[in-house]
Amino acid sequence: MADQSSKATILSGKELAARLRGQVAEKVADRGRAGLTRPGLATILVGEEPSSQVYVRNKQKSGQEVGIHSIGHVLPEDTRQDALLELIHELNINPEVHGILVQLPLPKHLDEAAILAAISPSKDVDGLHPYNAGLLAQKGRQPLFTPVTPSGILLLLQEARVSLQGAEVVVLGRSNIVGLPLALMLVKANATVTIAHSKSQHLPALSRRADILIAAVGQPELVSVDWVKPGATVIDVGVNRLEDKVAKKGYRLVGDVAFDEVRHVAGALTPVPGGVGPLTIAVLLQNTLHAAQLSDAAVSLD
Ligand code: NDP
Repeated sequence: MADQSSKATILSGKELAARLRGQVAEKVADRGRAGLTRPGLATILVGEEPSSQVYVRNKQKSGQEVGIHSIGHVLPEDTRQDALLELIHELNINPEVHGILVQLPLPKHLDEAAILAAISPSKDVDGLHPYNAGLLAQKGRQPLFTPVTPSGILLLLQEARVSLQGAEVVVLGRSNIVGLPLALMLVKANATVTIAHSKSQHLPALSRRADILIAAVGQPELVSVDWVKPGATVIDVGVNRLEDKVAKKGYRLVGDVAFDEVRHVAGALTPVPGGVGPLTIAVLLQNTLHAAQLSDAAVSLD
């Protein structure tokens, strides 16, 4: 009978995320006792895309649980660009709002770059404003905020005591929210980084070089066992819905990594769900607290 035991250490993000949320809750309570403003997070959801609705709801709920004041704006699918920009300008000057999050993807008719650029960099808790992204791309500079999913991945690697110094890392995916900023953060942490994407060639061989392989492609179970160097740390960022008639919701979530086979070869592996996902939200809450601290210090870049 085949050995069904898992060789890989399973890197759950749940405990670390709970600890981080607890730390944020304590600091928010400290602020209250010190007479400082309650951190406020404004979320903007345009349209009715079901997974975006779930993500926004989870972000608001997690915020409320740690004492963050959550202000949700839900706008119709056909919202005009100027109306959305107007709302962002109002939130930029609202002293009760410290962080502004525009849920992506936006409907096609809206100019995502222009909308993200309209958010005040000091309220840019997703770390996607060109000011913050630009500083992330420069050596020796620190943005006010770094993108939440990459930041969560670095925290998870740190928690698992995976050394980045000189490590060979392959990042599959080059999006503005995951792949590109993550690669920059890893380089700044002294890793040697290769970024691969849909036009890259020989992906299995390229990936097999990695001490740390990070999959952020949005392709269900693309990374199979022959992509993984024995003992490598594998971080699965992907969240893909696969139809499943037996499942209560009619679908199940799978990552970009073929978990059941890769776990026999990898040294460590994140599950989906329960790996990177919980950390993404925990970092968003940390960033919102940080935004409130910036406003205490009257940091203004407007
Ligand atoms: P995007 O679709 O924006 O980017 C996907 C990237 O993967 C692109 O760079 C694309 O290449 C590359 N790619 C696509 N197919 C292949 C392939 N067959 N081989 C190699 N590269 C490929 O996705 P995101 O970065 O936004 O998200 C990636 C995944 O992570 C998704 O499943 C998403 O749901 C998940 N996610 C999870 C989060 C969490 O908190 N757990 C947070 C954010 C995202 P190219 O540039 O050439 O098109």
